Amino acid sequence: MPNPLIIDCHLHMYESQDLALWEKDNYEIWEYGDKAEVHSGRFAGDVGDALKALSEAGAAKAVAVNLFGLSPARQQAIAELPEGLTPTEERREIERIDESMGDRLKSFNEWACGVAKEHPEFVPFIAADPWVLPVEEMCDHIVDQVRHGGAKGIKLHGIIQQVHMSDRRMWPIYQTCVEEGISIIAHSGPARGPDQYAEPRAFADVLKAFPDLVLVLAHLGGGAWGQIRECADAYPQAYFDCSEILAWTGGTKAPSNLELARLIKEIGPHRVMMGSDFPWYDVDYSADWVMSLPVLSQSEKEGIVGANAERILRL
Ligand SMILES: [Zn+2]
Repeated sequence: MPNPLIIDCHLHMYESQDLALWEKDNYEIWEYGDKAEVHSGRFAGDVGDALKALSEAGAAKAVAVNLFGLSPARQQAIAELPEGLTPTEERREIERIDESMGDRLKSFNEWACGVAKEHPEFVPFIAADPWVLPVEEMCDHIVDQVRHGGAKGIKLHGIIQQVHMSDRRMWPIYQTCVEEGISIIAHSGPARGPDQYAEPRAFADVLKAFPDLVLVLAHLGGGAWGQIRECADAYPQAYFDCSEILAWTGGTKAPSNLELARLIKEIGPHRVMMGSDFPWYDVDYSADWVMSLPVLSQSEKEGIVGANAERILRL
């Protein structure tokens, strides 16, 4: 039997292993309840690690989701300030950091597109954030990165970015994606506070308003996976990735393997893609997990591990 095409539709890569480890340490995953043993990725997560993970998994490509969160980026920049500043100096430096966030977002995206030019295994999905740049400037930057940088999509994380997925400030960004023919991969899942920025229901207005937008709800709704059926039924153009949730099956608030396989079967396996959420989890582990699912046919599983991403994301 020939090996199926493997494409990871949800991989994070970092400029350095230190930065990757910092991100891993500062991202708490709570929504799936308790689980005795959760698979944990064996790599730190810089570019070299990501390449190794892909080759060890026999994967042809990965969508590099370049997520920029204003608040973590600001925190990181502040942590890097030299020691011994006076309070006035420190205040001035922080003001300078705040003024530089737009440029930081742009150069972060340029970095991801540059890595992808050097390593065609990576398909860059860039960051967009209406808090960081005026939306018009944000859209110009997206167009520039699509046309000159090779960006193929946008990555959003409503909770980290504190942007509701149906926030009207996002409309010009969504419109730009439709016009440029690029896709969106958006974190979906419950938030801890009262504002549900990114649960599947938060996507209803955008899916209604942009029927031509290719919009992927990552993690199959995560801890809010119970909302995925209604979303999939109402919006046939919604797509899904099974990253993260696959490692948590059996958790007290997560579906079992069987429940997850049944959910995928019901909403349509052709709408679901394998993602690893590397470096949190490994690429080979994620692909193997899909191939071991019950309920789904061999060809449905082969679609999920690679062919669906090629078609849905127009890679
Ligand atoms: Zn992710």
